[in-house]
Amino acid sequence: MRRMRCYQVNEFGGSIEPAEIELPPLRGAQVRLRVIAAGLCHSDVHICEGHYDLGGGRKITFADRIKFPRVLGHEVSGEIVELGPEARGVAIGDVCLVCSWIGCGECEQCAQGLENLCLKPQFVGVNRDGGFAEFVDVPHPDYLIDLKGLDPVAAAPMVCSGLTTYSALKKFGPLAGRRPVVIIGAGGLGLIAIAIARMLDAAGVVVVELDAAKRQAALDAGALAAIAPGDGATDGIRQAVGGSVWAVLDLVGSGATAQLAVDVLDKTGKLVVVGLFGGAVELPVPMLPLKVLTIQGSYTGSPAELRDFVALAHAKGLPSAPLDRRPLSAAPVALRDLKEGRVVGRVILQP
Ligand SMILES: [Zn+2]
Ligand SMILES: [Zn+2]
Repeated sequence: MRRMRCYQVNEFGGSIEPAEIELPPLRGAQVRLRVIAAGLCHSDVHICEGHYDLGGGRKITFADRIKFPRVLGHEVSGEIVELGPEARGVAIGDVCLVCSWIGCGECEQCAQGLENLCLKPQFVGVNRDGGFAEFVDVPHPDYLIDLKGLDPVAAAPMVCSGLTTYSALKKFGPLAGRRPVVIIGAGGLGLIAIAIARMLDAAGVVVVELDAAKRQAALDAGALAAIAPGDGATDGIRQAVGGSVWAVLDLVGSGATAQLAVDVLDKTGKLVVVGLFGGAVELPVPMLPLKVLTIQGSYTGSPAELRDFVALAHAKGLPSAPLDRRPLSAAPVALRDLKEGRVVGRVILQP
């Protein structure tokens, strides 16, 4: 039986460790891909830690969702190298994006096509083995999107960071002809959000970010302005937006960032929260009707949205965001760098 190199998480609170595991024979409609690129995501850090911090000492645990050992990596592109006996509609040599958001196919969310919100998820790199490996198996060709010439390395982050920001920005409705969108956080997600807002014809993006180097990266990526939070931030944001603030995308998701968003939004404003940093917000309830505020969460995106997003990339080009390419063997160091905030742009691991 063939074997492959991979990186696994073996316990919560640890890191990811090298392993060599057997490649089982493919069954049914399974498809095997040689991994070309796998993006490293903040949720990989959370999975290794074993929880999301909700603030006030409350946590969401991964204990009931992750079985060890698990190969992480849910932003994966690869070349098809092997087909199960019932796999149809794809061919050896096709270069594809793996749609990692695989649901149970039975719950109410799945019935609506929202497999990313499935109650019994089977996500690649979370609930089943992912792409920090030489090969990755997907259960059915339906979860593969042919890249048809798009660069598979630059395309890999579309699956999570790209789709997450795409789906979040779509929740504001059409961006064209409106004032710039405010985006809090200029990490990997923030920089890709600037590019996707441009693909969606936004007038521009105003970034709020604590870290000076990341503010500069946001400006380099085309942000209209990059503002430090703190005293005077709300005035600075209003000035940069050029009027009332209607759309804030919070990619950090801390108590402080959500509070800033609620404070700065004007009448009929909308806050979309994606970040999972943790914390709580104090919201005077009458502000909801008086300002007609909308607060909405967004969690990755659906398989259909990923297909729409890839189609948009064919029309307008891939979202340009800085990539930090590293060999697969650098996975543990890269994970630590991401956890400690030493990464600008998106880390891509390549076997
Ligand atoms: Zn992710
Ligand atoms: Zn489901």
